[in-house]
Amino acid sequence: MKEKIYTIPVNDAYQSGCACPLCRLEADIEKSTLEYFLGASLMEPDTRIATNKHGFCRRHFTKMYAAEINRLGLGLMIHTHLVQVSSDLSAPLASLAPNGRSLLKGRDGDYKKRLEDMADTFSQRVDSCIVCDKVAFTMARYLDVIFWMYFEDEAFRKSFSSVKAHCMKHTAFLLRGAAKHLSQNKAATFVPDLVAAYQTGFDELTDDVHRFTLKFDYRNKDMPWGNAKDAIPRSMDLLTGADG
Ligand SMILES: [Zn+2]
Ligand SMILES: [Zn+2]
Repeated sequence: MKEKIYTIPVNDAYQSGCACPLCRLEADIEKSTLEYFLGASLMEPDTRIATNKHGFCRRHFTKMYAAEINRLGLGLMIHTHLVQVSSDLSAPLASLAPNGRSLLKGRDGDYKKRLEDMADTFSQRVDSCIVCDKVAFTMARYLDVIFWMYFEDEAFRKSFSSVKAHCMKHTAFLLRGAAKHLSQNKAATFVPDLVAAYQTGFDELTDDVHRFTLKFDYRNKDMPWGNAKDAIPRSMDLLTGADG
């Protein structure tokens, strides 16, 4: 039996009736991870070393700032991170500019590579995020559990097959997972269920959005809304994943 710390949240998400269970799981991990970094761990040396090194992406900086939980802590964490970034980059930045004197032309021919390498270093800094890393790590554990339960637990397989929809982002996640972890035999069982759930959700939502647009015609003022009222935000969630 897989550890309950992973099976319980997966079962809860798949029984919640929400549009995409994996969006919900991911939002829960993201929330608890942000609370962890804004909580008591913030002053622990090991955590600070990790946040100094990895930093946060724009999305997670924004979420931490908007949470208004611990702005002093956030400030302290960002300060030591800035100091670390500055210390890492000061030496390479000081010797970055090519030698512009024409007499020495040719002696500094690798300056283009140096500029590109430095640009890569900056881009890696922008993309690096300790929260994204933690979410990806935990989602990989959940993926393992989903496959295990799908093939070992009949009740879970039913929940999986009757899910309203997996969003496109998480359909990709499950397809990649199936390619990586499942034998051809197992994939032959799993993939049709995944495709059916995706297709049903997509088709129903397409109809709902169509109905939403029809309701703008006065001739349809008596037509029932059905499930169309929130079809636009649900479409955004299906096409790009819910913004938890
Ligand atoms: Zn999703
Ligand atoms: Zn992030």
